[in-house]
Amino acid sequence: MKSRCYFCKGKVVEKKVSVDFRWGDELAVIENVPAEVCQQCGEKYFSPEVYKEMENLAKAKEKPVKHIAIDVIRFVEPTVGKAKSL
Ligand SMILES: [Zn+2]
Repeated sequence: MKSRCYFCKGKVVEKKVSVDFRWGDELAVIENVPAEVCQQCGEKYFSPEVYKEMENLAKAKEKPVKHIAIDVIRFVEPTVGKAKSL
């Protein structure tokens, strides 16, 4: 169990969180996951058991409690450094 964040050394507290769990091209949001969350930067830490269980739930296509629509947006690189044509 951690008491400090690996990244910012902030205080880490136990919390139930929603996780955007992604594998391959699929995405599931898993609610109510026990995690340790950094109060400073929001980094989430999961125990290996919890992580494994999320994987199982996601891959088993556990009956969803709800469905949300997710937009996929493509990042477009800003045109910087190019000469203006005007
Ligand atoms: Zn942190």
